[in-house]
Amino acid sequence: HTGAPRPPLNVLLCAPRGFCAGVDRAVQIVELALERFGAPVYVRHEIVHNKFVVESLKAKGAVFIEELDEIPETDIDRPVVFSAHGVPKSVPEAARSRAMFYLDATCPLVSKVHKEAELHHRRGREIILIGHAGHPEVIGTMGQLPEGAVRLVETVEDARTFVPGGEKPLAWITQTTLSVDDTRAIVEVLTERFPDIVAPHKDDICYATTNRQEAVKAVAPMVDAMLVVGAPNSSNSQRLREVAERAGCPVSILVQRASDIPWHALPPLGRLGITAGASAPEVLVEEIIAAFAERYEVKVDSVRTAEETISFNLPRALRDMAAE
Ligand code: SF4
Repeated sequence: HTGAPRPPLNVLLCAPRGFCAGVDRAVQIVELALERFGAPVYVRHEIVHNKFVVESLKAKGAVFIEELDEIPETDIDRPVVFSAHGVPKSVPEAARSRAMFYLDATCPLVSKVHKEAELHHRRGREIILIGHAGHPEVIGTMGQLPEGAVRLVETVEDARTFVPGGEKPLAWITQTTLSVDDTRAIVEVLTERFPDIVAPHKDDICYATTNRQEAVKAVAPMVDAMLVVGAPNSSNSQRLREVAERAGCPVSILVQRASDIPWHALPPLGRLGITAGASAPEVLVEEIIAAFAERYEVKVDSVRTAEETISFNLPRALRDMAAE
């Protein structure tokens, strides 16, 4: 730094932000598996959608693959972890048929949606899944049931044009990381068109998604720009960026690391909002604040809209280790 006076900048940190209980658990599962069983530990798909997290685990001996058949025959006895997003039923089935030892890091809140889908199916209902095509969670949820049992609706337009496959009663479920407002709009259309459609008892959009969006809504109108720390393939991070924009924030940008900050795209800043997606570790938020502190006289305040105390049990095979 040159010593020239730095302009003041008030950073408003959205709270809650960053790691949720499901991500925390998934990362712990890989770390504990490495400690207990040594390297390599295979992980099917990015354990959570964050490059920094994936690289840190790689450095400790985790090997990331997209499909189980990438695991060489010689390593068939090594543990394999399924990512937090959940997997189609065919994946644990394949692992069992090859006698593999697997640890399922599927978030319990995603598993809850899987169970809802199965229950609807058993009761003879046609299931509408509200979600984004191609996202691993959507692939996993659709893959709980036979092909065609779950139909995907992505937009209000899809909801308007949806044609039921037959005479079966309908039910809807959702991806856990959607925009709360977009989903409400889609559900309104479905409910208007199909008044008897069965809804989840409690929202499928998880507490972490809901709370992070609420915090962003509170901060967005007060700041000149919002930075969302998160990866482009992270659904909940993308939603946070959109929520900030819609809540009236003139500039809302997704950044993975401090080195990605698009300094030239930022408006003159008096106040800056920062949040982080559920898969982004707090060190990345700190790194970004530090980058601003090199250019501005930074004062950091936190705006908290909810308290979070939820945490999830580890799989039985690792539970004793966490207690140590
Ligand atoms: Fe679970 Fe929600 Fe976190 Fe996804 S965002 S891992 S559903 S708590």
